Amino acid sequence: MRSRHRRITAAALAAVAVLGLPACSAVLGEEESLVDATSLTIGVKTDQPGLGLKDENGDITGFDVDVALYIAGRLGVSADDVEFTGVTSADREEKLIDGDVDMVVATYSITPVRKTQVTFGGPYYVAKQDVLVRAEDTGIQGVRDLEGLSVCQGAGSNSAARIAEGLGIGIRKTEEPSYSACIDSLREGGVDAVSTDNLILAGFLAEDPSAFRFVNNPFTDEKYGVGLPYGDVRACEAVNKAISLMYQEGKAKEFLDTWFGETGLQRVESVPQFEGCV
Ligand code: GLU
Repeated sequence: MRSRHRRITAAALAAVAVLGLPACSAVLGEEESLVDATSLTIGVKTDQPGLGLKDENGDITGFDVDVALYIAGRLGVSADDVEFTGVTSADREEKLIDGDVDMVVATYSITPVRKTQVTFGGPYYVAKQDVLVRAEDTGIQGVRDLEGLSVCQGAGSNSAARIAEGLGIGIRKTEEPSYSACIDSLREGGVDAVSTDNLILAGFLAEDPSAFRFVNNPFTDEKYGVGLPYGDVRACEAVNKAISLMYQEGKAKEFLDTWFGETGLQRVESVPQFEGCV
């Protein structure tokens, strides 16, 4: 789809000319919505194992990809008409606003600040933030032990603020372009810890279990939303309906088991409480 232009009918245009009404008046015509799309470009992460990871053939797979395909299907768009494209934590809002993507399903927490630019369907999952350290580093047993230590976050993410501002813990924040770059830095001794959503950390840990240790001290609710063009309330409502069905049909459990069944991570399998489409 990828068109953010508002559509009004020819009749409405005529009315605008005659009556001098503003063209954006909602009474004149229905606003363009993703519910009418016949194809979708969906932004996902490409470097987060278990969530959105691009392989050597260019295929992107993971929990977020499965969720996105399920929702697209419920909006009447088949997998063949879905194009996935990579987004980072830093460019999710921009890509939605610019119309480079129609939808973002990318470990994207719903926050009050983001809600001023993006309409969020969901959440489709509520993750918890946690901490990953090097396996041999036994000194860090909880998030409070991060006081004074260097903690990496992917640029544009809200994870460091959850510790520094949310919990008042004085960390030394380091930013890398992505969480995979943070994990490399942790492995190489560049930082003391990576703290972000437990699903993200579990995915990286599963790839290299001997290198890292999961602190297992969950805090915060990270409500994973489906990012939609600002104001597309019809799409938001349709997405929420799709998410409800995804849980009712057991698909959410199936996707979680597929991607995180062997990680030992405790998974939430009940439908999350929706935020509301405003
Ligand atoms: N869920 C958090 C966020 O949206 C951290 C992970 C990410 O940035 O993708 O900020």
